Amino acid sequence: MIPVTTFSGQTVAVFGLGLSGLAACRALAAGGANVVAADDSAAGIEAARAAGFAVEDLRSADWSRFAALVLAPGVPLTHPKPHWTVERAKAARVEIIGDVELFCRERARIAPDAPFVAITGTNGKSTTTALTAHLLRAAGRDVQMGGNIGTAILALQPPSDERAHVIEMSSYQIELTPSLDPTVGILLNISPDHLDRHGTMAHYAELKARLPASAQRPVIGEDDEECREIIERLRLANRSWVDIVSARERVGHGWYANGTELISRAPWAGILGPFADLAGVGSLRGRHNIQNALAASAAAMILGLAPEEVAAGLRTFPGLAHRMEEIGRAGATLFINDSKATNADSAATALASFERDIYWILGGKPKEGGIGPLVSYFPRVTKAYLIGEATEDFAATLQGKVDFVRCGTLDRAVQEAARDAGTSDAREPVVLLSPACASFDQYRNFEVRGDAFRALVTALPGIVLRGAAAP
Ligand code: ADP
Repeated sequence: MIPVTTFSGQTVAVFGLGLSGLAACRALAAGGANVVAADDSAAGIEAARAAGFAVEDLRSADWSRFAALVLAPGVPLTHPKPHWTVERAKAARVEIIGDVELFCRERARIAPDAPFVAITGTNGKSTTTALTAHLLRAAGRDVQMGGNIGTAILALQPPSDERAHVIEMSSYQIELTPSLDPTVGILLNISPDHLDRHGTMAHYAELKARLPASAQRPVIGEDDEECREIIERLRLANRSWVDIVSARERVGHGWYANGTELISRAPWAGILGPFADLAGVGSLRGRHNIQNALAASAAAMILGLAPEEVAAGLRTFPGLAHRMEEIGRAGATLFINDSKATNADSAATALASFERDIYWILGGKPKEGGIGPLVSYFPRVTKAYLIGEATEDFAATLQGKVDFVRCGTLDRAVQEAARDAGTSDAREPVVLLSPACASFDQYRNFEVRGDAFRALVTALPGIVLRGAAAP
């Protein structure tokens, strides 16, 4: 835990008592603040009480006592409309901040030069965060990873000059972190997402832009228009940055990839050319992972890793569960769990990662737009196996273009796809769960769906799990 000493002796209200809210309560209390915990939900209130914190109804509280309101990132600050606690805090002139802000203030106080990598983007945040942490760890560094992934930031070990913090940040967290000042700030990409919470694309992009702008060393993907505009602003402000180009090959600037070969432009790291190759790295398949791998490599080299250390670390990245996760093989057939692909965009990156012979398991609770946008990938699919509520919707889109079967449930889909792939004469058929749907019609969340897939695949005859020795 990171004791937050910057509010010592003051009273701080914490609203939103999920894991990060409770971690903030503990960190503030450990640093000597008086904590007033609050939540709209009975479960949150119960959890805070059980942890020994005073719980108050902030509607009837005297706000003049509070030095700050620490808000959980899920609570609306602006859109669709400010939460009532936000209105109350503003009326009482109480500053509104998040847990990463508490971290930044504490770091500024106890270890201002401690290495701190902050990572955001519409897609790829978790992969890049996990990969950056892995590269640093593989090179023997002391690393703490968390934020929007895994552990709440204030539940991590405190910053120090010898310990790097690698932190995933959502836009909500950026909005609540006015003193953000990472050593390296990675912005991967920007595409429309969560606009219900951010109002307009301009506001969403503005929030994302704050992260690289606040960093000592910005690292920015330049594949999309929004990010290119942010780079242009850095240029006008005379800032330097590392630009990551993954959509095109052989560009005249930036870090890019030639096929699976990663090319760096980092004279400061002693490298101006190829430094690693992702061929055969199963955890970093696909074009989208080129962006993630280049950005993580740049961050690691900025923090002093040698190019050879980065290249070695990339080869041993275990990957994240449910994101293009290689479960194993049965004979020539590869089984991939991409349960995290809850919309068409994400499923597109999965389909783009395999050129042919895909046995595609999809369906669930459909999202607007369905799989219409994926038509250009249909030639890669040998057969589709439909599950869940989206079945008839997707059947209509696939009709006449891709052979498909209505399976209803995942267990039947896995059985049939494994049998078809196993009896095909393709060199490397792929059974791919990339549902392009939410899971809620049949599963509690995408993790439970992915776990179910893993269990079904593990039970197949002849399966060799990834990492296991071949029989
Ligand atoms: P996030 O944490 O931003 O949601 P993840 O790393 O968990 O991102 O990846 C989620 C999905 O997003 C992946 O399964 C993949 O389909 C897609 N994705 C990952 N990285 C990128 C990227 N750099 N650009 C576009 N899509 C990506």
